[in-house]
Amino acid sequence: MMRVARVKEVVRETPRIKTVFLDAEVKAEPGQFVMLWLPGVDEKPMSIAYPGEDVGITFLVHGPFTTSLARAGPGDLVGFRGPFGRGFELEGRRILLVGGGVGMPPLAALADRAKEEGTDVTAIVGAGTKEELLFVDRMEGAGARVLVATDDGSAGRKGFATDVMEDLLAEESFDACYTCGPEVMMVKVLELARRAKMPVQLSLERYMKCGFGICGHCAMDRTGARVCKEGPVFTGEEVAELTEFGKYRRDAAGARIPLQ
Ligand SMILES: Cc1cc2nc3c(=O)[nH]c(=O)nc-3n(C[C@H](O)[C@H](O)[C@H](O)COP(=O)(O)OP(=O)(O)OC[C@H]3O[C@@H](n4cnc5c(N)ncnc54)[C@H](O)[C@@H]3O)c2cc1C
Repeated sequence: MMRVARVKEVVRETPRIKTVFLDAEVKAEPGQFVMLWLPGVDEKPMSIAYPGEDVGITFLVHGPFTTSLARAGPGDLVGFRGPFGRGFELEGRRILLVGGGVGMPPLAALADRAKEEGTDVTAIVGAGTKEELLFVDRMEGAGARVLVATDDGSAGRKGFATDVMEDLLAEESFDACYTCGPEVMMVKVLELARRAKMPVQLSLERYMKCGFGICGHCAMDRTGARVCKEGPVFTGEEVAELTEFGKYRRDAAGARIPLQ
């Protein structure tokens, strides 16, 4: 069912990332998403960054949809369907989150939930530069320990989030790992988690149309798992069976695009 909401507030998170808060309540598990509709523009999947009252969606401004969304202001109307999909499931008392860029929204929602339940959270946040880091203050405010990696070394360690993860796992262990971000990063997270014999849950992105399992556009090779329905969160075991993970995805027409 499509719901209609008004924009309450738009917050600038980084130079290219914004959060839009709507006057609607969406009860959702961390990792679930909505199909957000801008009349006359398009409808696109977006993770729920702030579930609950005044639901918040955090987005990177790059293409036609997100550029239009960035122009929205208080009082503007948007539509949405959802929440959809399978979210993250908390396992154990000591967890590790590994995120990069605009993969942070579902992980920040998970950090909030984990802290509410008294779980010990360590988060590794990666970005190109210091000013592109997302939700470091939010997660520290929730009581998480946050470690940072930037490509240019302007904050935290110079390198990738997975470099920090590799060093950390040499010293410490965790009950479970959760990741969302560039697929190339998640390939490495999966490899490191399996080496450490640590359960891992990964939030995947594929081109979506219906958002609730009817059209099959986001079905992945080889198992046919639909990212919108069986995912977007998958376990490490499930992802290991996907022959396309880390190799290719499909565009709007269904053609294969190699992952860069
Ligand atoms: C489950 C899920 C959750 C997501 N959560 C967020 C989020 O919280 N914040 C955020 O900024 N982005 C999120 N995305 C990605 C977001 O949907 C795309 O960035 C957005 O659709 C881009 O639209 P555009 O017109 O601005 O850019 P375009 O130039 O049209 O596309 C830019 C990129 O977005 C991908 N994309 C475009 N349309 C779709 C679609 N219908 N389904 C999936 N990917 C698409 C393209 O493949 C391309 O890689 C999520 C995607 C999925 C599948």
